[in-house]
Amino acid sequence: MDKEVLKKAFEFHGHICWASAAGVRAGLAALRELDVQRTGSSDELHCKVEIGENHGAQCFADGVQYVTGCTLGKGNIEKTGWGKLALTLIDKKIEKAVRISYKPGRHKMIAESSFMRKRGQGVPPTQIPPEEAWEMADIVWEAPESEVLTVGSVQEYRWEDDFGEIMGLTPCSHCGELVSKVYLRVVGEKHMCIPCSGYER
Ligand SMILES: [Zn+2]
Ligand SMILES: [Zn+2]
Repeated sequence: MDKEVLKKAFEFHGHICWASAAGVRAGLAALRELDVQRTGSSDELHCKVEIGENHGAQCFADGVQYVTGCTLGKGNIEKTGWGKLALTLIDKKIEKAVRISYKPGRHKMIAESSFMRKRGQGVPPTQIPPEEAWEMADIVWEAPESEVLTVGSVQEYRWEDDFGEIMGLTPCSHCGELVSKVYLRVVGEKHMCIPCSGYER
């Protein structure tokens, strides 16, 4: 595999880590299984990533976002909130999907790497030499796929768009900042953004 993609994913993610490397491998495997390319638009692929909130290894999702092109900004990725390192990639056009999950076949090696031991002793990641971070990421990157990933079979997946993309931005009549039209709230005679309106959503 071309290591350039891993380097670029780490640049996007902000640091070198095993979980984002696992996300890169999982995302690449999903693209390969569906025989599709990384997407640059919001109407081709959709991803459900199974991470939750405030847990270690959420970094997985950044590797997935980088390689699949399913990103928060395009709105074609969502979290299931299950606290798991897995994803389902859906090809909306042909209505097929595949689920890939992280398999802990090398997890003991990761836990025993000098990077993780230092982290366990409370050393901040920025004070650990990058070579040691790479050594940990390489455990995931260089492993045979069958040791680090469970690759599901491609399944039929009915795709129904809830609503199309809503275009158009309007200034909030209170703060003047632009807001997508559907997110305007009516306050008396005025149309305001959610924070100005006092509504919760
Ligand atoms: Zn990370
Ligand atoms: Zn406002």
